[in-house]
Amino acid sequence: MSLENFHNKGSHNREKIYYLEASLSGLAKWLRFMGYQVELEEDKITPEKIWKKQDRIFLVTSAQTAKQLEKFNLSYLLLPRGPLKAQIFFVIHKLGLEPKLTLDLCSLCGKKLIPVKKEEFRGRIPLKVWKRYNEFNYCANCDKLYWEGDHIKGIRKKFQTLLKG
Ligand SMILES: [Zn+2]
Repeated sequence: MSLENFHNKGSHNREKIYYLEASLSGLAKWLRFMGYQVELEEDKITPEKIWKKQDRIFLVTSAQTAKQLEKFNLSYLLLPRGPLKAQIFFVIHKLGLEPKLTLDLCSLCGKKLIPVKKEEFRGRIPLKVWKRYNEFNYCANCDKLYWEGDHIKGIRKKFQTLLKG
């Protein structure tokens, strides 16, 4: 079932897992920044993989894959091939996603970040960062620490640019 004309504004979108073809790694990153659960395929999407991921929502640019998904009667959205800006707009609009950054998922693995006390990570935080920031999040899966730094400011700015029509 193509979600092309499926106007879903439900908040339960966050419980769904979006399964993206390999070429959509840029989009995958932004969906994670927006707090949506994403799995990025690293190789070709085959019928065997489709069979194992039936409960996912497939995001693809390949019309051929879309045809297979149609045959299996699974939920999918066929996206335009680039640019990223057009893809983000398309996905937000078609799937009724919330166009806002939550930044609560690890951008590397997509697992939920845990808010932590900075004291627990004292040895790992550069002094400058320690003095300037109080909110820290941690990915136990990647053993990575996140904080609201210049990098995040850059992400927020880029997101605004991407959302502008
Ligand atoms: Zn992670």
